[in-house]
Parts: sequence; C-alpha cells; structure tokens
Amino acid sequence: MFRLSGSFRTLKNAPRLQRNINKRSVNPHVEPNLIPQSASHIAALPAVPPRTQARPTPWLSPSEMETYLFPLHELLPWRFFPRRFGGNIISELGAGNGLILRGTYRFTDKSGAHQFVEDVMKTAKEEENDAFYLKIHENKSSPSQGSSEEKGPIYHVGIKSITKEAFIPKSILDLRPDFFSATNNTLLPENSIIAGLTVRDLRFTLLIDQLFRDRFLLTSSSTSNTGMISLVRPPHLVTSNSIESVMKWIFGNGFCRCCGSTHKLVDCPVRKEYPPTHCLHCGGKHWAIDCPESPANLQDTNKDK
Ligand SMILES: [Zn+2]
Ligand SMILES: [Zn+2]
Repeated sequence: MFRLSGSFRTLKNAPRLQRNINKRSVNPHVEPNLIPQSASHIAALPAVPPRTQARPTPWLSPSEMETYLFPLHELLPWRFFPRRFGGNIISELGAGNGLILRGTYRFTDKSGAHQFVEDVMKTAKEEENDAFYLKIHENKSSPSQGSSEEKGPIYHVGIKSITKEAFIPKSILDLRPDFFSATNNTLLPENSIIAGLTVRDLRFTLLIDQLFRDRFLLTSSSTSNTGMISLVRPPHLVTSNSIESVMKWIFGNGFCRCCGSTHKLVDCPVRKEYPPTHCLHCGGKHWAIDCPESPANLQDTNKDK
C-alpha cells in the first residue's frame, strides 16, 4: 500500500534547530553530529538479501538483526525504531509494536526529489509493495544562514518501511523479556499477523540506497545530479544496537502486560490467574485496573450510587 503524504513545505522552526549544528551537516530532519556517508561505509554494506516469497513473512531473527539491521543503522541514512514512535502508523497497522525503518534523502532541487519518489514507488511495486506499509513525505528547508555550500533550499524525501503481513517467529518469541506475568502461558500464537521489520524491508532499504547513489548523487555519473551526500551516524551515536534493548523496545509496549499477547490488559482472559505481586494502589495481589481502591474504580462506584 502506498501512502504519499504531504507536499513541499518550509520548516518554520528550522533556524532554531540549526543553531547548534555544524553547518556542513545541516539537516533539520535528522539529529546533529552526523557524518557524510563515505566510500568505506558503502564498501562495508552487507549484500542485498534475495527476495523472499514467504507471506506472511517472519520478523527479523536475532542473527538477521546482527547481520543486516544493526550495521545498516551505521552505514545508511536509515534508522529503526519501535512502531509506537511512528505517529499515525500505530493506529493504522493494528496491534503490536514491531520495528519500523525510516530513511531520509536530500536534494538540491524539487524535480530531483520528485523523480526519486517515483523511482522509490516503482521499486516498491517490483518488490510486491502490497506487503509493505510505505510512507513517503517531502519537505523543503531554507538554506542555512552564512553557509557558502548550500545556496538554495534543500528538499528532503523521507521514507518509512514496515512489512504489514508479518508474524513473530519462535526465535523472537523465545527472547521476550520476562516482564510478563504469564510468561509460561503465552497467548500469542506464531500465526498472529503483526506488522514488523522483515527481510523484505532490509532488501528494500539496500535497493533504495543503491538507487539513490547510482542515479542521483552529485559525485557520480548520475542521470539526475541533484542528490546530496547522505548523512550517517558515527558509531558512538548508535546506542540501540543490541538484541536485548530491541526486545525491550518492542515488547514493552503494544502487548498485554500479563500474557504478552496483542490484546489490552483489560481484555486479558488469564489476568486473574496471573496477578502481579504488588498493586500500585493498595499493595494487594491484583492488577491495578482490578483494584477496588484505584481512582477509576472508585469513580465507577460513586456513579453507581
Ligand atoms: Zn493478556
Ligand atoms: Zn489494589
């Protein structure tokens, strides 16, 4: 499914954001202290994984995260984060909290950015885009004051990718953190469809970056010389690259706190059998939502009177 949102617009707060940023790496859409993607970054990229036929597609396994996802965070202008930070994507993709990838590319003119968006959409179609949730937005930022290198506005193309038809494989289910009370009574079967990052997204990301470098980058013999060199994270800025932290990110939100399934705690059929040791309100052995002394339950009692 394609979602093409937004149009070119000026970022009103860009000057404020740029104040503390080195003028060479000004980009109000990404964090400061980024460095230009170099030839050694590109040489270190993993090979593009083959196209998968599997539908639904399993979430990335721990070894795929180590081989592809974590290196890409440092080598490409893409970052991954849990879906709950993805704005309206949360409500549009249903329950759960899989990872999502977001990339940003910069152009010196509008037509180059438009052409890139068209090429990205074409690639997505070739890659069976109906499996993806793809969100593309375009923005324009003003030139930085006093910078001799950036004379005109910069056009940004942002891309978000996540596989809609995905499921959590056993290798990931087994790594769920032990903060679920009913860890041994999980109600999350492997055939639950939960959007998340799969090998489809990794392949797509690598293909898009290759496309950008081949066809748009100023320094190559490209057909549209309007792409600006990508900015990537130096290793010291990458703090999320461990399986353990990723598991905490994913399962700490969007899943039932009792059994780790995709329903809300209030709808959990086993929550009475697996109470926490300590209620927030009274210290008793039940979930706070079941506490007779919780503010919400006291309000209900008053209403009944
Ligand atoms: Zn539950
Ligand atoms: Zn209580």
